[in-house]
Amino acid sequence: MGWSIEQSAELYGIDKWGADYFAINDGGEVVVFPFGEDKSVEISLLELIKEIRMRGYDMPALLRIENILGSRIRDLHQTFRKVIQENGYRGEYRGVFPVKVNQQEQVLKVICEVGKEYNHGLEAGSKPELIAAISMQENRNAPLICNGYKDEEFIDLGLSAIQMGFQVFFVIEVPGELELILERAKALKVMPNLGVRIKLSTQAEGKWSHSGGEGSVFGLTMNHLVTVIDRLKEEEMLDCLQLLHYHIGSQIANISDIRAGVMEACRYYEELVREGAPMGYLDLGGGLAVDYDGSHSNTPSSRNYSTEEYCWDIVESIMTVLDKSDTAHPVIITESGRAIVAYSSILLFNILDTSPFSPPELPLKLPDTAHDLLENLMATYRMISPKDLQECCNDTLYYRSQVRQLFKLGQLSIRERAFAETLVQHILLKITETAKEMQQVPRDVRMLQGLIYDIYYGNFSLFQSLPDVWAIDQIMPVMPVHRLDEEPENPAIISDITCDCDGKLDTFPGGDCGQKTLRLHNLLDDEEYYLGVFLVGAYQETLGDLHNLFGDSNVVSVSVEKDGSYRFRDEIEGDSVEDVLSYMEYDVRAIRARLKALAEDSISKGYIRVDERRTILDRFEEGLRGYTYFEKA
Ligand code: PLP
Repeated sequence: MGWSIEQSAELYGIDKWGADYFAINDGGEVVVFPFGEDKSVEISLLELIKEIRMRGYDMPALLRIENILGSRIRDLHQTFRKVIQENGYRGEYRGVFPVKVNQQEQVLKVICEVGKEYNHGLEAGSKPELIAAISMQENRNAPLICNGYKDEEFIDLGLSAIQMGFQVFFVIEVPGELELILERAKALKVMPNLGVRIKLSTQAEGKWSHSGGEGSVFGLTMNHLVTVIDRLKEEEMLDCLQLLHYHIGSQIANISDIRAGVMEACRYYEELVREGAPMGYLDLGGGLAVDYDGSHSNTPSSRNYSTEEYCWDIVESIMTVLDKSDTAHPVIITESGRAIVAYSSILLFNILDTSPFSPPELPLKLPDTAHDLLENLMATYRMISPKDLQECCNDTLYYRSQVRQLFKLGQLSIRERAFAETLVQHILLKITETAKEMQQVPRDVRMLQGLIYDIYYGNFSLFQSLPDVWAIDQIMPVMPVHRLDEEPENPAIISDITCDCDGKLDTFPGGDCGQKTLRLHNLLDDEEYYLGVFLVGAYQETLGDLHNLFGDSNVVSVSVEKDGSYRFRDEIEGDSVEDVLSYMEYDVRAIRARLKALAEDSISKGYIRVDERRTILDRFEEGLRGYTYFEKA
């Protein structure tokens, strides 16, 4: 029986994590729907890869679909508007994009362009982010939230933006900040709009649980808050206090944590109004999660709610608390970052080579002098049957550890160890075959099956392009972008090209805690094999580092028209070797001079001939100018 694209969709889960943006076409290629729910336009990723290559850019490349960014902003605003209307909420919704989630100029440009219609603002947590935000935002009605630790210069920049008519809010994050803001406001004669960030006792589950709760590093305690109110009253500036902010973590998987946070914050809000502050804005911070693994569950790489449920629970919770005290409904602000940008970027890379799981042939007979352990492994191999599978698993693991131990102690030779490994590999294959006949496969057997995989070497750096996979075990959806009408034969893990054993993708969407392997196709001699890592628009581009001096990848940004035509709006060439060396403070001119001197020295010492000098130096020159990733000659 042939393989269908439906089987590929099921295998890779694209219909689950792809939301409205990704699917497989009849030709077995991944397509992107730039307009989300409106499926009238689709573009094949393979076609885009060919276009990227024709423009002279190599893999890896980060592909950004600008329309998806726009679609995410529209979707969030329209959902909030609908829910606000349905509930009779007497306030509006404003989104702000936290610049730290993706600081790229192109991203801010699209967010400000599309966000104009909705007064979608920006959140800045540092001076560079604030300057970038002010320079990109033309809409004076969009909020500009200043979070983070602020010095005099930061505050002066924000006050200058207020002078120019922008709606800037200074969020007091730590107690000491207020005095400096008051001092600078007086000096510049500008009335500041103030907000307070509070530490809620609510703590969200998940990888960012430390961002909330009383142990969080940012935010005011109850006592700090009272001090801030008293100081503002003393200065007759309580009128400036308009906004309450909290942030209990990113990627909040459980909707009940979101609800609990809003309810608690509303009690603070109500009390601030009672104290006489005008208020008007409730800023819930980030946290709207992305369903990276498509499981729609309360697990760290997913979320157990829809965007509509998120909006609904927020609006309903605010009304539940504030209506009891007749407190006016505030403007709701969320600082959603990942939910806005994650879907718009895809990391594309080619596979360079594979290391297949293929043991040498099993010898029919062991040498007479074979160690007892080898005899035992051979006996285990012969014994495998559905009835004894668990026992065979136990024995294999035990004998394998004994073999390793004896080798370390010098009691087994390299050949005996190699022999034992071959036997273990054949046992794994036979166990896997046998398990196919069973309805219920024991857990240990599944664990052993997980050891059978090929290694596919991908042309990318995990540390540069997918740092969260390494740092916090984030699961990202990965799959081939073509050949999806062919059966992928090989269970595999994907290694990057850094020489770091952590540089690998070995957990994929599926199952309760992800799957340990991903089925991939055999490589063909005459065709590149391309994979995509999806939903990488949030944090990945900016947290990456130069591990092994692999630099930024090429970035292309595509904008699609309603008639299906598209334009490459921005192309950013990835770092060259010369670039990354200079980031590390190397003086590249001095490197060139030293290479010349080295060549001269090599001539004088007889290592190379004079006529070879030029070719060698040209090679180095080409190396310095080249891409840091694998380039095919
Ligand atoms: N706001 C603040 C204060 C944050 O620290 C963060 C990130 O952790 C965000 C917003 C963005 O969160 P998310 O990307 O989950 O929406």
